Amino acid sequence: MPKIVVKNPLVEIDGDEMTRIMWAMIKDKLLLPFLDIPLEYYDLHVSNRDATEDQVTKDAALAIRRHKVGVKCATITPDAKRMDEYKLKKQWKSPNGTIRAMLDGTVFRAPILVGNVRPVVSGWKKPIVIGRHAYGDVYKNAEIAVPGAGKAEIVFTPAGGGEPIRKTIHDFTAPGVIQGLHNTDASIESFAKACFTFALDQKIDLWFSTKDTISKTYDARFREVFQAVYQAGYDAAFKQAGIEYFYTLIDDAVARVMKSEGGFLWACKNYDGDVMSDMLASAFGSLAMMTSVLVSPDGCFEYEAAHGTVQRHYYKHLAGEKTSSNGMALIFAWTGALRKRGELDASPEVVRFADTLEKAAIATIEAGEMTGDMARIAEPKAKAVLNTEEFLDAVASRLRSML
Ligand code: NAP
Ligand code: MG
Repeated sequence: MPKIVVKNPLVEIDGDEMTRIMWAMIKDKLLLPFLDIPLEYYDLHVSNRDATEDQVTKDAALAIRRHKVGVKCATITPDAKRMDEYKLKKQWKSPNGTIRAMLDGTVFRAPILVGNVRPVVSGWKKPIVIGRHAYGDVYKNAEIAVPGAGKAEIVFTPAGGGEPIRKTIHDFTAPGVIQGLHNTDASIESFAKACFTFALDQKIDLWFSTKDTISKTYDARFREVFQAVYQAGYDAAFKQAGIEYFYTLIDDAVARVMKSEGGFLWACKNYDGDVMSDMLASAFGSLAMMTSVLVSPDGCFEYEAAHGTVQRHYYKHLAGEKTSSNGMALIFAWTGALRKRGELDASPEVVRFADTLEKAAIATIEAGEMTGDMARIAEPKAKAVLNTEEFLDAVASRLRSML
């Protein structure tokens, strides 16, 4: 069979530990035998980040800006232990944080559904995608432990002179705590654009929720910015695509999510997204079945697995033991990127290959062939519990028969 030609470059960002091992297997078994693809390769192995003073991470982000589509393996975010382990010069920053900042992007997480793992919420039939605003609020706050009686105020001092604006938070008569939060219109606007872009891309409804009945200025600003961005740039496109933008209170949203059948994007403020994304991941089954895509407001896409480098399995692998690590989220990172590349290049055969690979992977699990993490939660029980490589081989043989 002749290989399918991918016209334009895809930015490939390699990573660490067990995901690096699986990354190479996925390329060898599931991609390169079928695709003639120009890959622009960046090696974010922690030792190479160290050797390049982390320049390779910045180069990778710039490459995504240039080519619009990238796919990333999981990477170590070094702490003191990792500095020792890999003899690093520095505790380099999280590559995901660096790339997100350079692309001004928003992360969307979506579960992969298979018929033999039912979500905990039985009504959920389709994925619920979470978009989390990743700037400001309680994650960039100022806090004071109030030692005793006194007046707590918030003060804004204009840079160009003029009267400061002040408000009393509380007149303390005894010890307590205070906290100051902020966000910027620019960041909320980027977040809104990324959410509308993603919903349109996927042709799914967009829900957004805050607590603006209580927070009549702060949360209300989020609602207003979303509404303004929607009216100015997306209203017509949403109507044409037959999808809806729906705003509601966060508590109403939570209640509706539970009773919904899924199939929409839920845009969340920073804290709500932190909490709700972990709840959704565990309710849908497993972190190994969660994909993640970074979308910039100007339409760049970076696909990855939501999980980390699976360190515990890697040490087993180094010790010569067989591991049963699940490659699904990494496979779907590649199919997400290939589908997007195919769409941008107007190459339906590339889009079709991505669809077929996803179907082959899902069909493998649904046929009862799966890794250990899935075998623990599948119903009916697994027919075969496979190791890391056997599972990818099983997907490859299904893929061959489907192409
Ligand atoms: P992790 O890689 O997400 O793995 C945590 C545990 O979840 C694993 O030990 C395993 O459980 C299970 N698991 C995750 N992915 C799996 C898969 N594909 N197949 C089977 N089981 C899977 O988190 P970690 O081991 O705590 O973190 C390792 C490194 O990843 C850290 O250095 C961190 O900085 C990095 N990290 C990177 C990213 C990223 O690049 N996006 C995200 C998060 C963390 P069992 O051990 O019970 O089998
Ligand atoms: Mg969390």
